[in-house]
Amino acid sequence: MNTEATPRKWRVATVSLAGCFGCHMSFLDIDERLFGLIEHITFDRSPLTDIKTVGPCDIGLIEGGLCNAENVEVLRAFRDQCRVLVAVGACAITGGLPALRNHLDVGEMMKAVYGEVPNDPELPLPLNRVRPIHEVVPIDHALPGCPPPADAFWQLLQDLMAGREPQLNKGLIRYD
Ligand code: SF4
Repeated sequence: MNTEATPRKWRVATVSLAGCFGCHMSFLDIDERLFGLIEHITFDRSPLTDIKTVGPCDIGLIEGGLCNAENVEVLRAFRDQCRVLVAVGACAITGGLPALRNHLDVGEMMKAVYGEVPNDPELPLPLNRVRPIHEVVPIDHALPGCPPPADAFWQLLQDLMAGREPQLNKGLIRYD
């Protein structure tokens, strides 16, 4: 009988709030290393899975800032469920390019784009300002870049899974 316990897999959730999915694409740019990674992690809620609500996780990767009420609700659920929460990319860290709308009036902006302010109750209410996620919940780590390089995702996950404080060398820290 095989008595060796199967090593527990790390549970990772990811989400795009007011993001462009570019950070997720950069994560996938770790390419064939994904095959090795998947031996050690399993994905919870993520655009890569069909899981609708986030469950208890080791790591949550948040792409995008907050532009509407639904973003805030989802972010809070991630904070509740994820032991380690990571702000991924310029949008999550500072609001990013979408925050360029912050000097505009939201109502006027809607009218300019749609001709009127959409009022279907199914639609999440927009925030008057696009906000970085640290304004709403505490964040454990940040992965800068727009998007962060694939090697930065790789390094962060390797460090976290080894129980180390993530250390990105200079080449992996960028803001553009
Ligand atoms: S940081 Fe850049 S790549 Fe990532 S979601 Fe924002 S705009 Fe897209």
